[in-house]
Amino acid sequence: MRTISFPNGRTVPAIGQGTWMMAEGRADRGTEIRALRIGFDDGLTVVDTAEIYGDGASEELVGEAIAGRRDDLFLVSKVAPSHASEAGTIRALEDSLRRLRTDRVDLYLLHWRGGHPLEATLRGFERLQKDGKIGLWGVSNFDTDDMEELMSVAGGRACATNQILYNPEERGAEFDLLPWMREKGMPAMAYSPVGQGGKLLSRSGLRRIAERHGATPAQVALAFAIRDGNTLAIPKAGDPAHAAENAAALRLELSPADLAEMDEAFAPPSHKVPLAII
Ligand code: NAP
Repeated sequence: MRTISFPNGRTVPAIGQGTWMMAEGRADRGTEIRALRIGFDDGLTVVDTAEIYGDGASEELVGEAIAGRRDDLFLVSKVAPSHASEAGTIRALEDSLRRLRTDRVDLYLLHWRGGHPLEATLRGFERLQKDGKIGLWGVSNFDTDDMEELMSVAGGRACATNQILYNPEERGAEFDLLPWMREKGMPAMAYSPVGQGGKLLSRSGLRRIAERHGATPAQVALAFAIRDGNTLAIPKAGDPAHAAENAAALRLELSPADLAEMDEAFAPPSHKVPLAII
């Protein structure tokens, strides 16, 4: 099974589970919880949520799904930029813990850059870490210049990850951001790794490789996202069959020939591309 390691040595499977748009009535709640639990059983033990998803409803659903198995999981949540003052970050985390029905999250992220100074958010993260309420902290949707700035802030080098949009159709980060993170020993988290279940999955380049492996296009997209050993992909699956399928991608290895074919179908960046955000 493919894994990634955070700077503190904590190692987790290289595919986890997203939860955006869960608990929003798009699918049956029980089915979404079952999908998450099937994912957990099959090794997708990282679960990613955020205070803004469904205005807290996603965290509540996650709280229900993780009941009785919290200690086996790696829980990630995010503070909204509007809450990311020092005191606001602490308050937001306390609210998240209540919805998640747990006493700590393993990783807490700033969802994207907002108006509060990074220094203030970091002071909030550091307080929470000292109190044992968060394990690691990180950021999301930070481009390379944002990461450089973060490194210049007191305590900024403790950042554990940057969660970014990354999939075969969104490879811009390969030009400078992903190499920058690798060089710093900082794993990336790839969001929307299966292109939100859209047209990416019907692209012929992906389908051809999938057929050769007896796999699905989504599995190839996931194996592609995690191929460098420094990226954790977090597909969201409300359908239990999708969750099981995504877990099986932990064992799918793409060959150099597959990767060359991916480059033909989805050209890698040849120049700096500003980080895309969903
Ligand atoms: P995604 O994971 O690329 O796509 C989710 C969609 O793909 C769902 O419609 C899902 O359908 C479908 N799907 C999942 N597995 C599939 C499979 N094996 N075969 C076919 N379809 C499949 O997109 P995402 O939800 O935008 O991103 C993933 C997670 O990243 C989010 O849930 C969230 O936790 C995080 N995220 C973070 C940010 C940020 O700003 N930090 C932004 C966006 C997302 P079903 O639900 O029906 O299974």
